[in-house]
Amino acid sequence: MPKTLRLILGDQLNIKHSWFNEIQDEVIYVLMEVKTESEYVKHHIQKIVGFFTAMRDFSQELIQQGHKVKYYKISDENNAQNFFDNLSKLIHEHQIELFEYQEPDEYRLDKILKDICGKLGLKSNMLSSEHFLTDRYEVRDFFGEKNYLMENFYRQMRKKWDVMMENGKPLGEKWNYDHENRKKIPKTLEIPKPFEFNNDVSTVLEEIEKKDIPYFGDIDPKNFNWPVNRKQGLEILDHFLDKLIENYGPYQDALDTRSWTNFHSRISFALNLKMIGVEEVIEKAEAKLEGADDPNIASIEGFIRQILGWREYMRGVYWSKMPNYSDSNFFGFSDELPNWFWDGNTKMNCMSYSVGQSLKHSYAHHIQRLMVTGNFALLMQCDPNEVDAWYLGVYIDAIEWVEITNTRGMSQFADGGLLSSKPYISSANYINKMGDYCKDCHYNHKLKHEEYSCPFNSLYWYFLESQRDKIEKNPRMKMPYNILNKMNPEDKEKIMDRAEFLLSNRHNL
Ligand code: FAD
Ligand code: SF4
Repeated sequence: MPKTLRLILGDQLNIKHSWFNEIQDEVIYVLMEVKTESEYVKHHIQKIVGFFTAMRDFSQELIQQGHKVKYYKISDENNAQNFFDNLSKLIHEHQIELFEYQEPDEYRLDKILKDICGKLGLKSNMLSSEHFLTDRYEVRDFFGEKNYLMENFYRQMRKKWDVMMENGKPLGEKWNYDHENRKKIPKTLEIPKPFEFNNDVSTVLEEIEKKDIPYFGDIDPKNFNWPVNRKQGLEILDHFLDKLIENYGPYQDALDTRSWTNFHSRISFALNLKMIGVEEVIEKAEAKLEGADDPNIASIEGFIRQILGWREYMRGVYWSKMPNYSDSNFFGFSDELPNWFWDGNTKMNCMSYSVGQSLKHSYAHHIQRLMVTGNFALLMQCDPNEVDAWYLGVYIDAIEWVEITNTRGMSQFADGGLLSSKPYISSANYINKMGDYCKDCHYNHKLKHEEYSCPFNSLYWYFLESQRDKIEKNPRMKMPYNILNKMNPEDKEKIMDRAEFLLSNRHNL
């Protein structure tokens, strides 16, 4: 084998990759913490710390296995802080003849690495990251010119990978239990405390601070509460499967002030960094169906659908539609995101709670991201670039392929309906129905235009009125437009006035 340099990116911490099956003296692995990767958007501090800590842990594991590893810490004096210069130096120093890397999941990095390969002047190979169950263009090839309906793709994946199938049919005779999965959490049902790690990340934090890397958000460096290696990734998964999955399905859309996680798994960070594998997560979840007297099929199917369906589908949409996807702006919105997205300082209880926990924990569960913060950003007609930058920065699991498809596509409808058949917008009614956020709010969820009326209410009708030309003909929008068209003109005028007041006072709500 020629002298080979293999690059491992921060989200490629897959110890089961075939690269590591044998120890090869001619191979050097390189991992690097570089400024260019930390500064392309302003990140939550837990995200930067989480990536660096997991990378350091991974490199130690490789060294213990006997592999040769070169690791650049952010604080190392000889770290040129960019991929090209660090790689060139190593290639020169070690007389490298072959450069190899695993396919990056981000379009931006894919391009950077292809450019670098062109400039390095030696043979290079890009290999599979051996993580996903589909290849980059499988979703594009599956749909061709047809509508990108997730459900069709998901059913195909169930058949292809033989997941929850019995004699060629879906287990329980149903593909999808979504309609059983939309309940508010009863007050009598206890929500277990979120699983805790007490990782000490003080040293990494100090090094980041010394390098003046811009960041925002909170951190408790002695008790960093995210998995930073495969062992911890499996622990958080097992905790979910033992204690939470039973209630995951029915309450996956619930909002509740008692918990920042509800019954969600919090495995996205470990999964997106590839510390744990897709197949093993699905296998372990499916195994819950065996042996139990009365397994909750709806919950298990609901969880598997997120990973085998949504996650693979989003990646496929990303590779089908990039790079144009990142410029899509169907409604042509250009207004600012309210300033309080950066400090949580708002009188709106649902927003204060969802933004606040995002800043504190670098995490919000799906329905907070979609129906609280995302819904509000869309109703406020915010620039999708700003919305994307916030989501990409704030969440510990945010990597562009899964962030942009969810944010710009699913939540902001900026792709004009490729991912969802109608915009995910709602009035206060939905938020009130799904939990207890409205109970102690400064605003009144029942009022539409009065001084204390909930902002969601007037903004919802204003959105429909102002975007008529774009969405009125959408068959799924028929019902709200019927209501709007029959609205008493005096009420309607007051609602529109109230919305305009809120839009122009967006930073002080
Ligand atoms: P659980 O509810 O326990 O779900 C289990 C797993 O299913 C998740 O870990 C995730 O891997 C997968 N999954 C669930 N929903 C989706 C989805 N819609 N798309 C892809 N995978 C999914 N997910 C990210 O991983 N990174 C992001 O940057 C991200 N940004 C989002 C932005 C918006 C506006 C929205 C609406 C959703 C976003 N999601 C993102 C999807 C989803 O909200 C998160 O995956 C989930 O909240 C992570 O928490 P969890 O592990 O507790 O999820
Ligand atoms: Fe949110 Fe409105 Fe309910 Fe307050 S009343 S919590 S602002 S939906």
